[in-house]
Amino acid sequence: MVNAPAPSLRLDFDAEALKANWRTLDRMSGSASAGAAVKADAYGLGVERVVPALLAAGCVRFFVAHWSEVDAVAHHAPHSSISVLHGPMHVSDCAYAIALGVKPVLNSLPQVKCWLDAGGGACDLMIDTGINRLGLDPSELSDEAVARLDVDILMSHLACADEDSVMNREQLEKFISASQHVSSNYLSLANSAGIALGPDFTLDATRPGLALYGGVPRPELAESIVQVARPHAAVLQRRSLLSGESVGYNAAFTASAPTEIAIVSLGYADGFLRSWGREGYLRFGDRLMRLLGKVSMDMVAVDCSAAPELREGDWLEVPYSLPKAAITSGLSQYELLTVLGSRFQI
Ligand SMILES: *Cc1c(COP(=O)(O)O)cnc(C)c1O
Repeated sequence: MVNAPAPSLRLDFDAEALKANWRTLDRMSGSASAGAAVKADAYGLGVERVVPALLAAGCVRFFVAHWSEVDAVAHHAPHSSISVLHGPMHVSDCAYAIALGVKPVLNSLPQVKCWLDAGGGACDLMIDTGINRLGLDPSELSDEAVARLDVDILMSHLACADEDSVMNREQLEKFISASQHVSSNYLSLANSAGIALGPDFTLDATRPGLALYGGVPRPELAESIVQVARPHAAVLQRRSLLSGESVGYNAAFTASAPTEIAIVSLGYADGFLRSWGREGYLRFGDRLMRLLGKVSMDMVAVDCSAAPELREGDWLEVPYSLPKAAITSGLSQYELLTVLGSRFQI
């Protein structure tokens, strides 16, 4: 067998930046300790590189959403440090948690009963304080089954932490008051944006995700959070357009003068969605190259006026500073990370 040649897409992953972001968020968490949301393959950046880096930085709590995500994290992190946010839907989920020694996050009375019936043990418990997604209603905490739980982290989740909403403090107060009715080792409310809401919100443990990976959900984080992921795509071909010639599907761009262009190995199958089309550009060093026409599945065209010497095989950087990229693409910072496809070499 011959090894496959190097791909024409590359995602530069900066482990030091990731660690620095975790330390920043841990410091901003005050006396609370920062964990890490590593669901969805660490927001697309790869559990196998993210979790070891976070462990090295000092992180001791990891949150995934699905049971299918446990194995990859458990390969690197102590099993007792892993919490599964979706909780157990079936008794087989409970059996798996008990066999591995990972914690379910229990979200409803049926989940609480499922866990206790399976034998129980250390678990986390989610209370809904207004997002109306997952979690027990505070009124359900008086159920006798809840009193039989061995709750490690008692948590809730903020709906509007990235905004200055009155709902933030309302949820905090509701959570604190509900927490009086459950005995637990730790209280946890804040995601990335919640950490930036200040010391009232950080409690005993925080659960940042987005900001670890370079996302800036609130302006307070803008100066201290650094970019972690930098996608690059190679030039496949150079072309010269005559005035009046068009580019790509539906001839969406027509040259009004002779134009030097490059066809780049990057498309919507790689997570570079068509929404980048109108305002988007790629970068060659510090030079900006405007996108021309529609994004195809595997290709995009750029104007080479700013870099006439660009050649086939040269690498262009996708401008992926997340707050700016979100404005350009119309995608959320979360979507920008998790949409990246599997053809990047990391
Ligand atoms: C995803 C998630 C987080 C992390 O949120 P970010 O906004 O990415 O920091 C924290 N807590 C829960 C319950 C989550 O589902």
